[in-house]
Amino acid sequence: MLLPGCAHYQRAIDVSEQAALLADCVDVFAAAPPLQPIAPWGKPLSVRMTNAGALGWVTDATGYRYQATHPETAAPWPPIPRRLRALWRRFVGVEGPVPDCCLINYFDPGARLGLHRDDTEAETRWPVLSLSIGDAATFRLGGLKRRDVTRSITLESGDVFVLSGAGRLAYHGVDRIKRRPGNPLETASALAPWLPIGPGRLSFTLRVAGALRGDSGRGG
Ligand code: FE
Repeated sequence: MLLPGCAHYQRAIDVSEQAALLADCVDVFAAAPPLQPIAPWGKPLSVRMTNAGALGWVTDATGYRYQATHPETAAPWPPIPRRLRALWRRFVGVEGPVPDCCLINYFDPGARLGLHRDDTEAETRWPVLSLSIGDAATFRLGGLKRRDVTRSITLESGDVFVLSGAGRLAYHGVDRIKRRPGNPLETASALAPWLPIGPGRLSFTLRVAGALRGDSGRGG
């Protein structure tokens, strides 16, 4: 059993929808080139990141934060593709705010992401939805404390994972990437030239990052 509020939707979108979404993202990658971020402790992360939406999640030597512009180009982030916003309505619902951030992580075959929780948002009561495309990921899901027991879940291309409710602040990470035949990123690499010819995985993480209009007393 997963923590309450955590849900894994296997093959939520089919191969043709995955290809269509990747084609939609060509404009995103052109407007906001993925970069290799620096963790606050000074080391580069092994994932490459970019964002779509009003806010983007970034990290550098000064820490983690959301900001409205790309750190290198200083341009606003491009809009969140329509197909991703539709996934939010389908798996999260139409109640509550719409996501204002889509963090896009590219994992090459050697990339990983250490155990962490998503807590940089102005409010952490709204769900987090992530979509996987490409090679599979060994996803590690823990509890609300770093030292809680964890379990390993394989996220395949087209899978959606939602963290909400009691599981919203669960610790999670990616242990490793597992090669899959027919990886849609390889056929899409001509569309998005920054993608290497070869294996890898993209994750698209939708969040409500900013303070909502009508809230008061919040710094952002
Ligand atoms: Fe996360």
